Amino acid sequence: MTFTLEQGEMLGIVGESGSGKSVTAKALMNLLPRTAEIDGRVRFDGEDVRALAAAGSRHFWGVRMTMVFQDPMTSLNPVKKCGEQIAETLRYHLGHGRVAAMKAATDLLEQVGVPEPGRRVNQYPHQLSGGLRQRVVIAMALACEPDLLIADEPTTAVDVTVQKRILDLLDSLRKERGMSMILITHDLGVARGRCDDVAVMYAGRIVERSSTETLFDRSRHPYTDALVRSIPRIEQPSHARLDPIPGRPPELIDPPVQCAFAPRCRYAQADCLESVPPTEGVGESHEFACHHPANTPRGREALANNVAAGVTAAGLQISYRKTR
Ligand code: SF4
Repeated sequence: MTFTLEQGEMLGIVGESGSGKSVTAKALMNLLPRTAEIDGRVRFDGEDVRALAAAGSRHFWGVRMTMVFQDPMTSLNPVKKCGEQIAETLRYHLGHGRVAAMKAATDLLEQVGVPEPGRRVNQYPHQLSGGLRQRVVIAMALACEPDLLIADEPTTAVDVTVQKRILDLLDSLRKERGMSMILITHDLGVARGRCDDVAVMYAGRIVERSSTETLFDRSRHPYTDALVRSIPRIEQPSHARLDPIPGRPPELIDPPVQCAFAPRCRYAQADCLESVPPTEGVGESHEFACHHPANTPRGREALANNVAAGVTAAGLQISYRKTR
């Protein structure tokens, strides 16, 4: 399954830990080990990204395409002042002089909402809070005014009050600069509130992709459907039970030749155990890969059969019918 991101838009990539979200981002950023085999193609503004890598392009990653990682301490050098680290990016990629780069670093810290930027440029990462460190990383990522920013769980390492501020900041910077963004998150609620399109990954594959509205109103893949059901809703009574997804994702070392979600799927039928479902709607605005899509006659029939039998073709016990 493919995805396209238009200028100024935000794509959310969601899925559980180990579903392949970060590997996808690293493949885009050319950060996978040389031994990694990449199946497929990445085109950026018409250019083949792997061809750029092969040509040794030094000023593409970090300039036109850049990334913010989950933990700011993995991106920051602990023995260098924050301002120097931002200035270094500007000097290396844009050829700024030392003084101009430090001035620009201070301005960037101000733009990302760091208080007292003139003082913070001279501080080391350990002297800042987690939220401020992540802002420094965002400032570094924005230094060269990228066309695309990939944010990999940018708020995982900060507390919940800082999370919203950082996501709001990224959102407003994106809109101000006309920058495109890929937001990688395990939080479907975050994707719903901020992304134009969402791609859902499971076991190393995109299993559904569409506009955010369609994904939440007319999800087709049972995994997406289960994720949507597991989000708490404000109108639910406080004692309402959420619907967890049973089981665990499969090991990807030796993936089975069947639907990878089958052991956990309430819709699973015999054909799900015999082949990997092909993608439906290829090239259209809504793509999904499932033999018995949820919220369709095919899916409803499969679910009704499993509920009547009390068990799916993959052996998952179904004790009650869940309603939306
Ligand atoms: S219905 Fe079948 S193909 Fe679709 S997700 Fe479930 S197991 Fe996979």
